Amino acid sequence: MSIDDTLTKAILPESELPTAWYNIAADLPEPMPPHLHPGTKEPITVEDLTAIFPPALAEQELSTQRYIDIPDEVRAIYAIWRPTPLIRARRLERELGTSARIYYKYEGVSPIGSHKANSSVAQAYFNHEAGVKRLTTETGAGQWGSALAFACAAFGMSCEVWQVRASYDSKPYRRMLMETFGATVHASPSELTQAGKAMREQFPDTTGSLGMAVSEAIEAAVTDPANARYSLGSVLNHVVLHQSVIGEETLKQLAMFGEDQADLVFGCAGGGSNVAGLSFPMLRENLAGRTTTTIYAVEPSACPSITQGRYEYDHGDVAGMTPLMKMYTLGQEFVPPPVHAGGLRYHGMSPMLSHTVNLGLVKGLAVEQTQAFEAGVLFARAEGLVPAPESSHAVAAAVAEARTRTSEADACSIVIGMSGHGQLDLPAYQEYLSGAMV
Ligand SMILES: *Cc1c(COP(=O)(O)O)cnc(C)c1O
Repeated sequence: MSIDDTLTKAILPESELPTAWYNIAADLPEPMPPHLHPGTKEPITVEDLTAIFPPALAEQELSTQRYIDIPDEVRAIYAIWRPTPLIRARRLERELGTSARIYYKYEGVSPIGSHKANSSVAQAYFNHEAGVKRLTTETGAGQWGSALAFACAAFGMSCEVWQVRASYDSKPYRRMLMETFGATVHASPSELTQAGKAMREQFPDTTGSLGMAVSEAIEAAVTDPANARYSLGSVLNHVVLHQSVIGEETLKQLAMFGEDQADLVFGCAGGGSNVAGLSFPMLRENLAGRTTTTIYAVEPSACPSITQGRYEYDHGDVAGMTPLMKMYTLGQEFVPPPVHAGGLRYHGMSPMLSHTVNLGLVKGLAVEQTQAFEAGVLFARAEGLVPAPESSHAVAAAVAEARTRTSEADACSIVIGMSGHGQLDLPAYQEYLSGAMV
């Protein structure tokens, strides 16, 4: 194919919205280590998982079926913002003096400004279908909470969110967004659950962590079995599955630009869902021998699960209520420093992404917070879009790579996963610009 140098953005028509989610479990060269029951330590079953998830999501979690149909009701809501654009960052290329062709897949066009709505809408739908009236969840900076609040509003369900204390106090806008969608928001650890009370007793000055908030939200769901279920915004296999729409669209859009493949892909990794969603359809192509894409999962050096953590069985929460999952982890009690990319402050990593890293199919990279903001500002000034601080980690890694490529001989295509916009994170940019950021 020859590159279409006149095109700046590839926009797919609504008729090209994916009809199925792609499940990498069908194509892995080695099967994933199973999730284990926290009590018996035996491989977990669909039945075990239905204590916290509706049957359809419990099945998706353990499924090895390659394609899973996206229900029409979910596609109808996706159609509000999907397909999302793939944009060529020409002005950034010029600014960097690079021969690389840089594209970004922009998930910030969703109603809540990030990729998280891809899974929240699916999760709310399957819960609603199963008769669930109330969803509980945790949130860090508020992106997942606002995504679930939006999705619950779409299906007339109530939504209760435990937000990490540090973000609840310092980032009020996403709380307001959640409340605008009709959700109830509590600072975590709270006095409303046994887990929260215990954590406040043990760590009186804690600013909270996602692991603590997960324990609270699960407890609230399991103590109301008739009405409530729990919902998680990342890490789990079914979340990764839902995010595959990002990569499926990107493959078609790269072809519109005349690209045979993305040579390099950079996505940020908190729990791993957006980078996995972007890259697993590309990994399918690699595994089938059709492409040779190199995939990077970029994490903050303050919370370096992949690059510094151990690959072992761990819980997804502090109280140990989730299944044991084999993943890169810093340990369930790790409380990361309050870095601004709140969505990347998690001790563990998607077991699916961890497995592909362990097999050498995906690479890990760590980026300093100030390096991420420097790249975010550079990107904003060149392209007019302020990346979410999380996404800026991917931008920073891509920019560093592009700078090394200056001649036609090392030209390549780079895709950045722009998981969200940073318009509710401007105080963090301000802190960076004032020189106060560490
Ligand atoms: C939550 C979030 C992330 C991190 O979550 P993943 O599951 O790793 O994708 C990244 N970017 C944005 C904008 C987010 O809101």
